[in-house]
Amino acid sequence: MRLADPGAGVQSRRGGAGPSDHKAVTIDGLTVMAPVHTAPAFDSPYVAEPPAADGLSTVRRDGQVVGRISFPPQPKFYALQTADGVPYWKIATLHGRDVLATTVLQSCIRFASRKNTCQFCAIGQSLAAGRTIERKTPAQLGEVARAAVELDGVRHMVMTTGTPNATDRGAAILCESAAGVKAAVDLPIQAQCEPPDDDAWFQRLKDAGIDALGMHLETIMPEVRRAIMPGKAKVSVERYFEAFAAAVEVFGRGQVSTYILAGLGDAPETILETADRLIALGVYPFVVPFTPISGTPLESHPSPAPAFMHAILAPLAARLREACMTSAEIKAGCGRCGACSSLSAYGG
Ligand code: SF4
Repeated sequence: MRLADPGAGVQSRRGGAGPSDHKAVTIDGLTVMAPVHTAPAFDSPYVAEPPAADGLSTVRRDGQVVGRISFPPQPKFYALQTADGVPYWKIATLHGRDVLATTVLQSCIRFASRKNTCQFCAIGQSLAAGRTIERKTPAQLGEVARAAVELDGVRHMVMTTGTPNATDRGAAILCESAAGVKAAVDLPIQAQCEPPDDDAWFQRLKDAGIDALGMHLETIMPEVRRAIMPGKAKVSVERYFEAFAAAVEVFGRGQVSTYILAGLGDAPETILETADRLIALGVYPFVVPFTPISGTPLESHPSPAPAFMHAILAPLAARLREACMTSAEIKAGCGRCGACSSLSAYGG
């Protein structure tokens, strides 16, 4: 979607991990993250006007009105800063409507060399642009989480991390971070990391206060993995599946999830077959249309067509309902939020 006046209305995210260059948009009561600062968005036929006096924005397609939308208001906690002067919005941001999201460590071993970088990722960009800080301390995270709950009614939290090493792969820093939040406020937390080298980390993560875990495959077929995420592809899909099984033992069925980026080369049948395997293990496959982030090697890669996503999401949602494993059952995280995919709108 294009913004008729990109300076009007509430702030949007540029750079970083997750739905960067996007803006939260509420359509018929459903909040989604819509790309607004990306190359494909600049060519979009959909244009949103600045909000009118009633707070709603009119969306036109080729000049014709197609509907009215709203942008969630800027959260009140964004106006605060820590005692040592760090603005709260550099520590965590609001995603969707009621999710607090943070990247606890904004650096990654995979990002150190372009040869190994995940081609879709911009983790170093928002740091370089001064829009975040590299390491958020447990105390800072607790302080911001409490304010976000009290002032803005956030309901759950997503904690992701760059991969700091090839051993625990981020689990240790996530344990410290979750403990910092839980000491300050009772907020369900999803942590996201690569599979650690030792399954004992899953119990440690749970004991630290993490309620749900995401380990993100991103892409599936060997040639697609090697091309899109050459560093991360060194951890095999089979290792992911072993880790999924061990994590479900600890967190429970439906509380372990994985992101799958559709539109980067995996065939719909491959995504659906993998989703079947995941559901059988008790893992929620959060299938998301790929949207490029400006400044990354994939910045001009197209997003998948609606028909491509429909061919995946409609059968996937039916399989999730059959397995009684829908987003509504997830305690925290991307699957519960759902703003980066229309999977929940299909009933998944
Ligand atoms: S689905 Fe995840 S990444 Fe997307 S807006 Fe929600 S919490 Fe953020």
